[in-house]
Amino acid sequence: MSQLPTHSDVIIIGAGAAGLMCAITAGRRGRKVLVLDHANKVGKKILMSGGGRCNFTNMYAEPGNYLSANPHFCKSALSRYTQWDFIGMVAEHGVPYHEKTLGQLFCDNKSQDILDMLLRECDKSEADIRTHCEILAIKTKEDGGFTVSSNQGEVACNSLVIATGGLSIPTMGATGFGYQVATQFGLSLKPRTPGLVPFTLGQSHLDKFAPLVGSAVDINVECNNQSFREALLFTHRGISGPAILQISSYWQPGDTITINWLPNLQLNDFLEQMKRERPKTELRTILGELLTKKWAQVFCEHWIESKPLNQLSGQELQKIADRLHAWQITPAATEGYRTAEVTLGGVDVNELSSKTMEAKKQMGLYFIGEVVDVTGWLGGFNFQWAWASGYAAGEVV
Ligand code: FAD
Repeated sequence: MSQLPTHSDVIIIGAGAAGLMCAITAGRRGRKVLVLDHANKVGKKILMSGGGRCNFTNMYAEPGNYLSANPHFCKSALSRYTQWDFIGMVAEHGVPYHEKTLGQLFCDNKSQDILDMLLRECDKSEADIRTHCEILAIKTKEDGGFTVSSNQGEVACNSLVIATGGLSIPTMGATGFGYQVATQFGLSLKPRTPGLVPFTLGQSHLDKFAPLVGSAVDINVECNNQSFREALLFTHRGISGPAILQISSYWQPGDTITINWLPNLQLNDFLEQMKRERPKTELRTILGELLTKKWAQVFCEHWIESKPLNQLSGQELQKIADRLHAWQITPAATEGYRTAEVTLGGVDVNELSSKTMEAKKQMGLYFIGEVVDVTGWLGGFNFQWAWASGYAAGEVV
Protein backbone atom coordinates (compact mmCIF):
# COMPACT_ATOMS: atom_id res chain seq x y z
CA MET A 1 0.00 0.00 0.00
CA SER A 2 1.60 3.31 -1.05
CA GLN A 3 1.83 6.29 1.30
CA LEU A 4 -0.98 8.84 1.19
CA PRO A 5 -0.03 12.15 -0.47
CA THR A 6 0.52 15.06 1.91
CA HIS A 7 -1.93 17.27 0.02
CA SER A 8 -4.90 16.82 -2.28
CA ASP A 9 -7.22 19.49 -3.70
CA VAL A 10 -10.23 17.43 -2.66
CA ILE A 11 -10.71 14.64 -0.14
CA ILE A 12 -13.89 12.62 -0.38
CA ILE A 13 -14.66 10.36 2.59
CA GLY A 14 -16.81 7.42 1.41
CA ALA A 15 -16.37 5.56 -1.87
CA GLY A 16 -20.04 4.73 -2.44
CA ALA A 17 -22.38 5.97 -5.14
CA ALA A 18 -22.25 9.66 -4.22
CA GLY A 19 -18.52 9.74 -3.42
CA LEU A 20 -17.50 8.06 -6.69
CA MET A 21 -19.70 10.38 -8.77
CA CYS A 22 -18.22 13.39 -6.99
CA ALA A 23 -14.69 12.08 -7.64
CA ILE A 24 -15.43 11.61 -11.35
CA THR A 25 -16.90 15.10 -11.71
CA ALA A 26 -14.17 16.91 -9.77
CA GLY A 27 -11.41 14.87 -11.46
CA ARG A 28 -12.75 15.77 -14.91
CA ARG A 29 -12.30 19.42 -13.92
CA GLY A 30 -8.63 18.74 -13.29
CA ARG A 31 -8.88 18.66 -9.50
CA LYS A 32 -6.57 16.31 -7.64
CA VAL A 33 -8.96 13.98 -5.81
CA LEU A 34 -8.33 11.51 -3.01
CA VAL A 35 -11.17 9.16 -1.96
CA LEU A 36 -10.87 7.44 1.42
CA ASP A 37 -13.04 4.51 2.55
CA HIS A 38 -12.70 2.37 5.63
CA ALA A 39 -14.15 -0.73 3.96
CA ASN A 40 -12.08 -3.43 2.25
CA LYS A 41 -13.93 -2.80 -1.06
CA VAL A 42 -15.58 0.26 -2.61
CA GLY A 43 -19.24 0.52 -3.61
CA LYS A 44 -20.55 -2.40 -1.56
CA LYS A 45 -24.11 -1.06 -1.56
CA ILE A 46 -24.03 -0.67 -5.32
CA LEU A 47 -23.07 -4.33 -5.56
CA MET A 48 -25.88 -5.55 -3.28
CA SER A 49 -28.49 -3.18 -4.70
CA GLY A 50 -31.53 -4.14 -6.74
CA GLY A 51 -31.15 -7.81 -5.80
CA GLY A 52 -27.68 -7.81 -7.42
CA ARG A 53 -28.82 -6.02 -10.58
CA CYS A 54 -28.64 -2.38 -9.33
CA ASN A 55 -31.76 -0.34 -9.99
CA PHE A 56 -29.47 2.54 -10.93
CA THR A 57 -32.06 5.22 -11.69
CA ASN A 58 -35.70 5.83 -12.54
CA MET A 59 -36.93 7.28 -15.84
CA TYR A 60 -39.57 9.30 -14.00
CA ALA A 61 -37.39 10.67 -11.19
CA GLU A 62 -38.54 14.08 -9.99
CA PRO A 63 -38.46 16.02 -6.71
CA GLY A 64 -41.89 14.64 -5.68
CA ASN A 65 -40.25 11.21 -5.22
CA TYR A 66 -38.16 12.40 -2.27
CA LEU A 67 -38.78 12.95 1.45
CA SER A 68 -36.99 15.76 3.27
CA ALA A 69 -37.81 18.39 5.90
CA ASN A 70 -37.47 20.84 2.98
CA PRO A 71 -38.90 19.16 -0.13
CA HIS A 72 -37.58 21.97 -2.37
CA PHE A 73 -33.94 21.34 -1.47
CA CYS A 74 -33.35 18.46 -3.89
CA LYS A 75 -34.73 20.31 -6.93
CA SER A 76 -31.58 22.15 -7.97
CA ALA A 77 -29.23 19.15 -7.92
CA LEU A 78 -31.76 16.80 -9.53
CA SER A 79 -32.33 19.25 -12.37
CA ARG A 80 -28.62 19.69 -13.09
CA TYR A 81 -27.77 16.00 -13.20
CA THR A 82 -30.83 14.08 -14.33
CA GLN A 83 -31.62 10.41 -14.83
CA TRP A 84 -30.94 11.00 -18.54
CA ASP A 85 -27.40 12.14 -17.79
CA PHE A 86 -26.75 8.92 -15.89
CA ILE A 87 -28.49 6.79 -18.52
CA GLY A 88 -26.21 8.53 -21.07
CA MET A 89 -23.12 7.40 -19.13
CA VAL A 90 -24.48 3.85 -18.84
CA ALA A 91 -25.15 3.76 -22.60
CA GLU A 92 -21.73 5.23 -23.44
CA HIS A 93 -20.11 2.38 -21.49
CA GLY A 94 -22.28 -0.18 -23.24
CA VAL A 95 -23.79 -1.47 -20.01
CA PRO A 96 -26.90 -3.48 -20.96
CA TYR A 97 -30.03 -2.56 -18.99
CA HIS A 98 -33.81 -2.79 -19.08
CA GLU A 99 -36.89 -1.21 -17.54
CA LYS A 100 -38.39 -3.62 -15.01
CA THR A 101 -41.52 -1.71 -14.04
CA LEU A 102 -42.61 1.87 -13.25
CA GLY A 103 -39.55 3.43 -14.94
CA GLN A 104 -37.09 1.41 -12.80
CA LEU A 105 -33.89 0.73 -14.75
CA PHE A 106 -31.88 -2.38 -13.85
CA CYS A 107 -28.69 -3.92 -15.24
CA ASP A 108 -29.32 -6.92 -17.49
CA ASN A 109 -26.32 -8.62 -15.94
CA LYS A 110 -24.89 -7.60 -12.57
CA SER A 111 -24.53 -4.49 -10.39
CA GLN A 112 -20.79 -4.95 -10.89
CA ASP A 113 -21.28 -3.41 -14.37
CA ILE A 114 -22.26 -0.08 -12.76
CA LEU A 115 -19.40 -0.16 -10.26
CA ASP A 116 -16.90 -1.05 -13.02
CA MET A 117 -18.21 1.85 -15.10
CA LEU A 118 -17.78 4.31 -12.20
CA LEU A 119 -14.28 3.00 -11.47
CA ARG A 120 -13.27 3.32 -15.14
CA GLU A 121 -14.47 6.93 -15.04
CA CYS A 122 -12.59 7.53 -11.76
CA ASP A 123 -9.49 6.14 -13.45
CA LYS A 124 -9.91 8.53 -16.39
CA SER A 125 -10.29 11.39 -13.90
CA GLU A 126 -7.15 10.18 -12.12
CA ALA A 127 -8.93 10.00 -8.78
CA ASP A 128 -6.84 8.22 -6.15
CA ILE A 129 -9.06 5.74 -4.21
CA ARG A 130 -7.90 4.17 -0.94
CA THR A 131 -9.66 1.43 1.03
CA HIS A 132 -9.00 0.16 4.60
CA CYS A 133 -8.62 3.80 5.59
CA GLU A 134 -9.87 4.63 9.10
CA ILE A 135 -10.42 8.33 9.62
CA LEU A 136 -9.12 9.38 13.01
CA ALA A 137 -9.69 13.14 13.05
CA ILE A 138 -10.64 16.12 10.91
CA LYS A 139 -9.28 19.56 11.72
CA THR A 140 -9.56 22.93 10.04
CA LYS A 141 -6.32 24.64 8.96
CA GLU A 142 -5.61 28.23 9.93
CA ASP A 143 -5.02 29.24 6.31
CA GLY A 144 -8.24 27.53 5.16
CA GLY A 145 -8.95 23.93 4.24
CA PHE A 146 -8.67 20.82 6.39
CA THR A 147 -6.30 18.15 7.58
CA VAL A 148 -7.59 14.62 7.69
CA SER A 149 -5.74 12.16 9.93
CA SER A 150 -6.11 8.49 9.20
CA ASN A 151 -4.48 5.15 9.97
CA GLN A 152 -2.61 5.63 6.68
CA GLY A 153 -1.27 9.10 7.44
CA GLU A 154 -2.29 12.76 7.43
CA VAL A 155 -3.45 14.67 4.33
CA ALA A 156 -4.31 18.33 3.86
CA CYS A 157 -7.01 19.45 1.43
CA ASN A 158 -8.89 22.55 0.30
CA SER A 159 -12.28 20.87 0.01
CA LEU A 160 -13.62 18.02 2.12
CA VAL A 161 -16.64 16.02 0.97
CA ILE A 162 -18.52 13.72 3.35
CA ALA A 163 -20.15 10.86 1.45
CA THR A 164 -20.35 8.18 4.13
CA GLY A 165 -24.01 7.25 3.60
CA GLY A 166 -26.61 6.30 6.20
CA LEU A 167 -27.03 3.71 8.93
CA SER A 168 -28.75 0.91 7.05
CA ILE A 169 -27.09 -2.53 6.86
CA PRO A 170 -24.32 -2.01 9.44
CA THR A 171 -22.73 -5.30 8.34
CA MET A 172 -21.90 -3.60 4.99
CA GLY A 173 -19.79 -0.90 6.68
CA ALA A 174 -22.48 1.70 7.41
CA THR A 175 -21.53 4.08 10.21
CA GLY A 176 -22.80 7.31 11.74
CA PHE A 177 -19.51 9.00 10.79
CA GLY A 178 -21.08 11.68 8.58
CA TYR A 179 -23.42 12.72 11.37
CA GLN A 180 -20.46 13.03 13.78
CA VAL A 181 -18.63 15.29 11.33
CA ALA A 182 -21.78 17.43 10.92
CA THR A 183 -22.03 17.74 14.70
CA GLN A 184 -18.33 18.58 14.99
CA PHE A 185 -18.91 21.57 12.71
CA GLY A 186 -22.09 22.69 14.49
CA LEU A 187 -24.54 21.54 11.80
CA SER A 188 -27.93 20.34 13.00
CA LEU A 189 -29.30 16.90 12.19
CA LYS A 190 -32.82 15.69 11.52
CA PRO A 191 -33.80 12.57 13.49
CA ARG A 192 -32.74 9.38 11.70
CA THR A 193 -35.00 6.36 11.25
CA PRO A 194 -34.95 3.30 8.99
CA GLY A 195 -36.78 3.78 5.67
CA LEU A 196 -37.86 1.38 2.90
CA VAL A 197 -38.10 -1.35 5.51
CA PRO A 198 -40.48 -4.28 6.17
CA PHE A 199 -43.01 -4.09 9.01
CA THR A 200 -43.19 -6.58 11.85
CA LEU A 201 -46.62 -7.60 13.18
CA GLY A 202 -47.88 -8.72 16.58
CA GLN A 203 -48.09 -12.45 17.33
CA SER A 204 -51.86 -12.68 16.83
CA HIS A 205 -51.57 -11.38 13.25
CA LEU A 206 -48.53 -13.56 12.59
CA ASP A 207 -50.46 -16.65 13.69
CA LYS A 208 -53.41 -15.78 11.42
CA PHE A 209 -51.25 -14.89 8.40
CA ALA A 210 -48.99 -17.96 8.79
CA PRO A 211 -50.54 -19.88 5.85
CA LEU A 212 -49.92 -16.85 3.60
CA VAL A 213 -46.16 -16.50 4.23
CA GLY A 214 -44.32 -16.19 0.93
CA SER A 215 -47.40 -15.12 -1.05
CA ALA A 216 -47.92 -11.69 -2.60
CA VAL A 217 -51.02 -9.60 -3.34
CA ASP A 218 -51.34 -6.45 -5.45
CA ILE A 219 -52.72 -3.78 -3.12
CA ASN A 220 -53.04 -0.08 -2.52
CA VAL A 221 -51.66 1.07 0.83
CA GLU A 222 -52.17 4.42 2.51
CA CYS A 223 -50.68 6.17 5.54
CA ASN A 224 -50.34 9.84 6.48
CA ASN A 225 -51.85 11.07 3.18
CA GLN A 226 -49.45 9.06 1.01
CA SER A 227 -50.45 5.99 -0.96
CA PHE A 228 -48.72 3.39 -3.12
CA ARG A 229 -50.11 0.80 -5.49
CA GLU A 230 -47.75 -2.19 -5.63
CA ALA A 231 -47.32 -5.70 -4.23
CA LEU A 232 -47.54 -6.73 -0.56
CA LEU A 233 -45.63 -9.82 0.56
CA PHE A 234 -46.48 -11.83 3.68
CA THR A 235 -43.31 -12.73 5.63
CA HIS A 236 -42.45 -14.75 8.75
CA ARG A 237 -42.06 -11.50 10.68
CA GLY A 238 -44.90 -9.48 9.16
CA ILE A 239 -45.41 -7.76 5.84
CA SER A 240 -43.02 -6.55 3.15
CA GLY A 241 -42.98 -6.12 -0.63
CA PRO A 242 -42.62 -2.87 -2.59
CA ALA A 243 -45.92 -1.32 -1.41
CA ILE A 244 -44.98 -1.86 2.23
CA LEU A 245 -41.37 -0.69 1.84
CA GLN A 246 -42.63 2.50 0.19
CA ILE A 247 -45.21 3.31 2.85
CA SER A 248 -42.77 2.50 5.69
CA SER A 249 -40.95 5.77 4.91
CA TYR A 250 -44.15 7.68 5.77
CA TRP A 251 -45.04 5.62 8.86
CA GLN A 252 -44.47 6.66 12.47
CA PRO A 253 -44.58 4.16 15.37
CA GLY A 254 -48.19 3.60 16.43
CA ASP A 255 -49.67 4.66 13.07
CA THR A 256 -52.28 2.49 11.42
CA ILE A 257 -51.94 1.75 7.70
CA THR A 258 -54.93 1.25 5.41
CA ILE A 259 -54.83 -1.51 2.83
CA ASN A 260 -57.17 -1.78 -0.14
CA TRP A 261 -57.04 -5.49 -0.97
CA LEU A 262 -58.96 -5.01 -4.24
CA PRO A 263 -57.87 -1.67 -5.68
CA ASN A 264 -59.04 -2.64 -9.18
CA LEU A 265 -62.65 -3.25 -8.28
CA GLN A 266 -65.80 -1.67 -6.83
CA LEU A 267 -66.28 -4.70 -4.61
CA ASN A 268 -69.81 -3.87 -3.48
CA ASP A 269 -71.10 -3.61 -7.08
CA PHE A 270 -69.29 -6.81 -7.97
CA LEU A 271 -70.72 -8.74 -4.99
CA GLU A 272 -74.25 -7.51 -5.80
CA GLN A 273 -73.79 -8.70 -9.39
CA MET A 274 -72.51 -12.09 -8.19
CA LYS A 275 -75.44 -12.36 -5.78
CA ARG A 276 -77.79 -12.00 -8.79
CA GLU A 277 -75.82 -14.34 -11.06
CA ARG A 278 -74.54 -16.96 -8.59
CA PRO A 279 -76.77 -16.60 -5.49
CA LYS A 280 -75.76 -19.91 -3.88
CA THR A 281 -72.03 -19.33 -4.19
CA GLU A 282 -70.17 -18.75 -0.92
CA LEU A 283 -68.50 -15.39 -0.35
CA ARG A 284 -65.23 -17.26 0.32
CA THR A 285 -65.30 -18.76 -3.19
CA ILE A 286 -65.83 -15.35 -4.81
CA LEU A 287 -63.02 -13.76 -2.78
CA GLY A 288 -60.79 -16.72 -3.61
CA GLU A 289 -61.38 -16.08 -7.31
CA LEU A 290 -60.57 -12.37 -6.90
CA LEU A 291 -57.48 -12.83 -4.72
CA THR A 292 -56.22 -16.31 -3.87
CA LYS A 293 -57.94 -19.30 -2.32
CA LYS A 294 -55.57 -19.24 0.65
CA TRP A 295 -56.07 -15.53 1.22
CA ALA A 296 -59.87 -15.99 1.19
CA GLN A 297 -59.59 -18.93 3.59
CA VAL A 298 -57.55 -16.93 6.09
CA PHE A 299 -59.72 -13.82 5.90
CA CYS A 300 -62.99 -15.75 6.09
CA GLU A 301 -61.72 -17.82 9.00
CA HIS A 302 -60.69 -14.83 11.11
CA TRP A 303 -62.39 -11.64 10.00
CA ILE A 304 -65.24 -12.08 7.53
CA GLU A 305 -68.10 -14.53 7.90
CA SER A 306 -68.55 -16.53 4.71
CA LYS A 307 -72.12 -17.43 3.67
CA PRO A 308 -73.85 -18.10 0.37
CA LEU A 309 -74.31 -14.69 -1.25
CA ASN A 310 -78.13 -14.92 -1.16
CA GLN A 311 -77.91 -15.07 2.65
CA LEU A 312 -76.07 -11.72 2.85
CA SER A 313 -78.14 -8.53 2.87
CA GLY A 314 -77.22 -5.50 0.76
CA GLN A 315 -76.04 -3.77 3.92
CA GLU A 316 -73.83 -6.71 4.89
CA LEU A 317 -72.26 -6.85 1.44
CA GLN A 318 -71.57 -3.12 1.61
CA LYS A 319 -69.90 -3.55 5.02
CA ILE A 320 -67.68 -6.38 3.72
CA ALA A 321 -66.71 -4.33 0.66
CA ASP A 322 -65.92 -1.25 2.79
CA ARG A 323 -63.78 -3.36 5.10
CA LEU A 324 -61.74 -4.97 2.32
CA HIS A 325 -61.25 -1.66 0.54
CA ALA A 326 -60.00 0.01 3.75
CA TRP A 327 -58.43 -2.73 5.90
CA GLN A 328 -56.79 -1.19 8.97
CA ILE A 329 -53.69 -2.74 10.48
CA THR A 330 -51.19 -1.35 12.99
CA PRO A 331 -47.65 -2.69 12.50
CA ALA A 332 -45.78 -3.53 15.71
CA ALA A 333 -42.54 -1.98 14.42
CA THR A 334 -40.18 -2.05 11.45
CA GLU A 335 -37.34 -4.53 10.98
CA GLY A 336 -34.93 -1.63 11.63
CA TYR A 337 -31.56 -0.80 10.09
CA ARG A 338 -30.70 -4.51 9.75
CA THR A 339 -32.84 -4.71 6.60
CA ALA A 340 -33.76 -1.07 5.80
CA GLU A 341 -32.65 0.12 2.36
CA VAL A 342 -32.16 3.70 3.51
CA THR A 343 -31.92 6.07 6.45
CA LEU A 344 -34.51 8.82 6.67
CA GLY A 345 -33.32 12.14 8.12
CA GLY A 346 -29.66 13.12 8.46
CA VAL A 347 -27.79 16.37 7.90
CA ASP A 348 -30.38 19.18 7.97
CA VAL A 349 -30.68 20.52 4.43
CA ASN A 350 -31.12 24.05 5.76
CA GLU A 351 -27.46 23.86 6.78
CA LEU A 352 -26.38 23.25 3.16
CA SER A 353 -26.41 25.11 -0.16
CA SER A 354 -28.85 23.33 -2.47
CA LYS A 355 -26.67 24.27 -5.45
CA THR A 356 -23.33 22.99 -4.18
CA MET A 357 -24.04 20.90 -1.03
CA GLU A 358 -21.51 23.08 0.84
CA ALA A 359 -22.13 23.68 4.56
CA LYS A 360 -23.21 27.27 5.13
CA LYS A 361 -21.32 27.36 8.46
CA GLN A 362 -18.06 25.87 7.17
CA MET A 363 -16.53 26.90 3.87
CA GLY A 364 -15.05 23.98 1.93
CA LEU A 365 -17.07 21.26 3.73
CA TYR A 366 -19.66 19.36 1.66
CA PHE A 367 -22.22 16.63 2.40
CA ILE A 368 -23.64 14.44 -0.39
CA GLY A 369 -25.75 11.31 -0.83
CA GLU A 370 -27.69 9.49 1.83
CA VAL A 371 -26.03 11.24 4.80
CA VAL A 372 -28.15 14.29 3.85
CA ASP A 373 -31.82 14.53 4.85
CA VAL A 374 -33.07 13.64 1.37
CA THR A 375 -34.54 10.14 0.93
CA GLY A 376 -35.99 8.70 -2.24
CA TRP A 377 -38.78 6.25 -2.85
CA LEU A 378 -38.01 2.68 -3.80
CA GLY A 379 -37.20 2.33 -7.50
CA GLY A 380 -33.80 3.85 -8.32
CA PHE A 381 -34.50 7.24 -6.77
CA ASN A 382 -31.89 6.94 -4.03
CA PHE A 383 -29.08 6.30 -6.47
CA GLN A 384 -30.31 9.21 -8.59
CA TRP A 385 -29.96 11.46 -5.53
CA ALA A 386 -26.45 10.08 -4.91
CA TRP A 387 -25.43 10.78 -8.54
CA ALA A 388 -27.04 14.25 -8.60
CA SER A 389 -25.74 15.46 -5.23
CA GLY A 390 -22.28 14.00 -5.99
CA TYR A 391 -22.24 15.83 -9.30
CA ALA A 392 -23.39 19.13 -7.71
CA ALA A 393 -20.48 19.09 -5.26
CA GLY A 394 -18.05 17.71 -7.85
CA GLU A 395 -18.65 20.75 -10.04
CA VAL A 396 -17.43 23.20 -7.41
CA VAL A 397 -14.98 21.50 -5.03
P1 FAD B 1 -23.12 4.48 0.38
O1 FAD B 1 -23.33 3.91 -0.95
O2 FAD B 1 -23.65 3.77 1.57
O3 FAD B 1 -21.55 4.70 0.54
C1 FAD B 1 -20.97 5.15 1.73
C2 FAD B 1 -19.53 4.74 1.75
O4 FAD B 1 -18.91 5.34 2.88
C3 FAD B 1 -19.31 3.25 1.88
O5 FAD B 1 -18.40 2.80 0.91
C4 FAD B 1 -18.78 3.06 3.30
O6 FAD B 1 -17.86 2.00 3.41
C5 FAD B 1 -18.08 4.41 3.52
N1 FAD B 1 -17.98 4.77 4.94
C6 FAD B 1 -18.95 4.73 5.87
N2 FAD B 1 -18.46 5.13 7.05
C7 FAD B 1 -17.15 5.44 6.86
C8 FAD B 1 -16.12 5.88 7.71
N3 FAD B 1 -16.33 6.09 9.02
N4 FAD B 1 -14.89 6.10 7.17
C9 FAD B 1 -14.66 5.87 5.86
N5 FAD B 1 -15.60 5.43 5.00
C10 FAD B 1 -16.84 5.22 5.50
N6 FAD B 1 -31.06 2.53 -4.12
C11 FAD B 1 -31.46 2.62 -5.40
O7 FAD B 1 -31.63 3.72 -5.94
N7 FAD B 1 -31.66 1.48 -6.15
C12 FAD B 1 -31.48 0.23 -5.63
O8 FAD B 1 -31.59 -0.79 -6.34
C13 FAD B 1 -31.12 0.12 -4.26
N8 FAD B 1 -31.00 -1.09 -3.66
C14 FAD B 1 -30.59 -1.16 -2.36
C15 FAD B 1 -30.47 -2.42 -1.76
C16 FAD B 1 -30.05 -2.52 -0.44
C17 FAD B 1 -29.98 -3.88 0.21
C18 FAD B 1 -29.70 -1.34 0.28
C19 FAD B 1 -29.20 -1.41 1.69
C20 FAD B 1 -29.83 -0.09 -0.31
C21 FAD B 1 -30.28 0.02 -1.62
N9 FAD B 1 -30.45 1.27 -2.23
C22 FAD B 1 -30.87 1.34 -3.54
C23 FAD B 1 -30.10 2.53 -1.54
C24 FAD B 1 -28.70 2.98 -2.02
O9 FAD B 1 -27.81 1.88 -1.95
C25 FAD B 1 -28.17 4.13 -1.17
O10 FAD B 1 -29.14 5.15 -1.07
C26 FAD B 1 -26.89 4.68 -1.79
O11 FAD B 1 -25.91 3.67 -1.84
C27 FAD B 1 -26.38 5.88 -1.00
O12 FAD B 1 -25.15 6.27 -1.57
P2 FAD B 1 -24.05 6.99 -0.68
O13 FAD B 1 -22.87 7.13 -1.56
O14 FAD B 1 -24.61 8.17 -0.02
O15 FAD B 1 -23.73 5.95 0.49
